Amino acid sequence: MHLKMLRASVALAVAVFLCASTPIWASAYDGSPKLVVVLVFDQFRGDYLDRYRADFHAKNGWNLFLQHGAHFTDCYYDYANLVTAAGHSTIGTGSYTNGHGVPVNEWWEPSANGTPRLVTAVQDDRYRLVSGPNDAVPPSPGASPHSEIASTLGDELVLATGGRAKVFGVSLKDRAAILTSGHASRGAFWTDHDSGMWETSTYWMKKLPDWTISFNESGRAARARREANVPTGSFYDNVGRTSASVSYQLDFAKALIEGENLGKNPAGVTDLLTLSISSTDLLGHAVGPDSSEQRMMIDAADSQLDAFFTWLDGYIGLKNVMISFTGDHGVAPLSSVASAMGVPARAVSSKALLSSVEDSLQAQFKPKTNVKFVIGAEFPWLQIDPAPFLAEGIGEAEAENATAAAVRAWVAGQDKQTPSELSSAERLEEPIRLQFVYTASQLRSGDVPNTPVGRRELNSYSDRVGWAVHVNFGAYQYAGTSVGATHYSGNSYDRHVPLDFYGAAFIPGTYHNAVEPVDIVATFASLLRINQPSASVGHVRTEAMRSEHEADSAR
Ligand SMILES: [Zn+2]
Repeated sequence: MHLKMLRASVALAVAVFLCASTPIWASAYDGSPKLVVVLVFDQFRGDYLDRYRADFHAKNGWNLFLQHGAHFTDCYYDYANLVTAAGHSTIGTGSYTNGHGVPVNEWWEPSANGTPRLVTAVQDDRYRLVSGPNDAVPPSPGASPHSEIASTLGDELVLATGGRAKVFGVSLKDRAAILTSGHASRGAFWTDHDSGMWETSTYWMKKLPDWTISFNESGRAARARREANVPTGSFYDNVGRTSASVSYQLDFAKALIEGENLGKNPAGVTDLLTLSISSTDLLGHAVGPDSSEQRMMIDAADSQLDAFFTWLDGYIGLKNVMISFTGDHGVAPLSSVASAMGVPARAVSSKALLSSVEDSLQAQFKPKTNVKFVIGAEFPWLQIDPAPFLAEGIGEAEAENATAAAVRAWVAGQDKQTPSELSSAERLEEPIRLQFVYTASQLRSGDVPNTPVGRRELNSYSDRVGWAVHVNFGAYQYAGTSVGATHYSGNSYDRHVPLDFYGAAFIPGTYHNAVEPVDIVATFASLLRINQPSASVGHVRTEAMRSEHEADSAR
């Protein structure tokens, strides 16, 4: 054999050997980064980081993104369903509700006997909760990502690495832990609302890992109660709205990273953690986005994140980590705060609206038996029950059109209730407005205007809402009470969230171009050299990415 031929055949043999023995090496970006962290703060509006920027002094807190990362000021969701379950599914899958299938936090489905029953986005009767070492009869139902019909970044990473990548999800809330991390994760962990103990579901495992049991038995929940100064009552409702719950979740994430050896994968592939801090949402609902309490929680999170990321730097080195940061939705100001400044904000009584719509449908269709047409509202969706309509021979489009008309009529009626006299110099309360109401039939057939609002409506639709209408009141007007703040609408303040990246692959700086949270998984998938999630509609943020050569030297 000529030397040339020998060299060629040796090269061929080596190439065949490499292909056969190291398929993982080629598909997961050379094992670098070692860990991707998808960090989410619930109800963290897009203006907070810049508004409170002067408060942040820690090196590895918010400044990790603001000073050392790529910070986007104009990140808006492009749909009109701004709630926790849909938001976390959007972050995880890089698609909107028409892609991932999760419309709201809970909705009504027909039960076995045909009557509507309320189900949450993650509850799954086929599984049971796994909540402790001696849980002989675990509570039912369990939870799973079954309602999420698209793959997540974590799912794609697991597929690309032949199951070697370890993916986990963590949050106080089940839906936030589960829907962000996805189907092929090794585990999602969330808390029992009463005790604050971490739990999971038999979808992932029959028994909690030893490190989880140790954490639960360590007295850490009791310490959080002491820090929050709430010795009794629901952990979730009371401790959850204090900054003590932020470090509680970060400490659990540390225990998970150590317990599961994340970022030290023996196969040399990238691991992934989705970490969703619920505390800002629980507090924000109570006190509103402009309160000093919310600012104090964000300031406290600066040093809590600094401690967490400084620990991570020591554990696997931040140069080996890529991090994204966003919120699952924004929030409206308290109607009392906004209206005091002259903005026509209103809290809308959903009880009055629903009972008026029911009365209107009863008057129009005159059912022969005692039935109820309106099931309820999980805004922005108002659901009606198909069964009583079908019994009267009424189809979906007719029923939904009548419901939409009843919503419009109720709002128009409110307009007439302006008081006749001004008392002192106070302004009159502005009437309730309705920007739009679309029916499920319209959205299923794409019968919406070719405008940004129409596009967002289509992005908000999933057939899980059944027969329903999608309601959007006027700007700064929302269903609820004047005491609490909320979010769900297609208005900018509910859609505006942060988008930040940290890692060797990114060019530090502030970016003002229009971006969306769906860009996170598209960008990470590109950097990891894996497929984007199945329904991904995001864009790779190339403007914030270094060339590979520069990224190598930045590492
Ligand atoms: Zn919320």
